[in-house]
Amino acid sequence: MSEQHHFLMTPGPLALSDEVKAQMQYDIGSRDESFRRITSRVRGLLLDLLDGNGTHSVVPIQGGGSYGMEAALASFVTATDRPLVCINGIYGERILKILHLRGIEAVGLTMPSDQPLSTPEIAAYLDRNRHITHLCFVHSETTTGVINPLGAIVELARKRGIKTIIDAMSSFGATEISAKQVKFDVLVTSSNKCIEGPPGVSFVVASLEALESESRQTNSFVLDVRDQWRNFERTGEWRSTPPTHIIQACSKALEVLAAEGVVGRGERYSSVRDEIIRATTPYAPPLLSANVRSPVCVALTAEGVIDTQSDFDALYQHLANYNLYIYSKLHLPTSSFRIGCIGSIRPAWIRLLAAAFRDFFDVPRIPSKALYGAEFQFVKEVL
Ligand SMILES: *Cc1c(COP(=O)(O)O)cnc(C)c1O
Repeated sequence: MSEQHHFLMTPGPLALSDEVKAQMQYDIGSRDESFRRITSRVRGLLLDLLDGNGTHSVVPIQGGGSYGMEAALASFVTATDRPLVCINGIYGERILKILHLRGIEAVGLTMPSDQPLSTPEIAAYLDRNRHITHLCFVHSETTTGVINPLGAIVELARKRGIKTIIDAMSSFGATEISAKQVKFDVLVTSSNKCIEGPPGVSFVVASLEALESESRQTNSFVLDVRDQWRNFERTGEWRSTPPTHIIQACSKALEVLAAEGVVGRGERYSSVRDEIIRATTPYAPPLLSANVRSPVCVALTAEGVIDTQSDFDALYQHLANYNLYIYSKLHLPTSSFRIGCIGSIRPAWIRLLAAAFRDFFDVPRIPSKALYGAEFQFVKEVL
């Protein structure tokens, strides 16, 4: 069993700062006034960062990002609604899957995963299909790191009276989103991406109009965003046991984000991304063209060397021998693998990554174990 920190270069979970981790030392009663204050602070900080005061409210939900997304879909889409899911990666596909599992007749509009969603194509689809009630899509598709045109898509939906439900899991915190400018109905994010908190809680940000609307009851207790919201507003308490340590850490993480600023954080990630690209490009160039890359993660390709999951497993294991951990799955449709640029990534890790790539791609296939001895000293220095 490894007790050392992995050098996480994954797009969530990520390397936490010491000050955020330090918050998880405190045991606090979940219904005590002090914890109600922390919850309220988290909701308030997030709302400020989204510029949503007076128009929206933040509802934390226990569980990772997919839990928050499912809660949003369960609470704001009813059986008779007809959502359209615009898809250019696996997280868009997941939205469609959740809707289908819930028995909702949702349709998917699938577009290439190495390009942003096409606004004209979506507009044309909506003009041909007037029964669509909701538009769901992913802002930053972490599959490839492609950024979709949030403002333009929300606007074309609004013009047609269609509600918007957005997966902003990996964009919030690194990409400016103003609820005053982009008038979305529902947006979901989670603790362990650009907020730089530990995994375990998600945040459904919904318009007051959506939260206050009298609609049929949600057919789930734990996923009922409105009921949780009413409870927060009335009592400041969670309905069932919250992840108290994680919320304390998120409170600190959001303070740090507010101090750094979303723009500053986006710039920091962009420069990490560009450093990673510089280190890896000789062997594995980026999949996406520069103008559509999000700062959150970068997808790389190495045609002829890494074409199958088992090819990629060898690289993954090689990097793990250097204590470097990247996302463990190859995206087969694009034969790309991704490296996260978020969290407390140290410059030395990127130097180590450059050495590890060189050793993997340059040398005739020596088992990476043979190199481990030589690099181990370096890993220890970085630690
Ligand atoms: C990470 C992520 C998710 C899923 O979050 P989990 O915490 O793994 O459930 C959904 N959508 C996007 C865009 C993500 O990056």
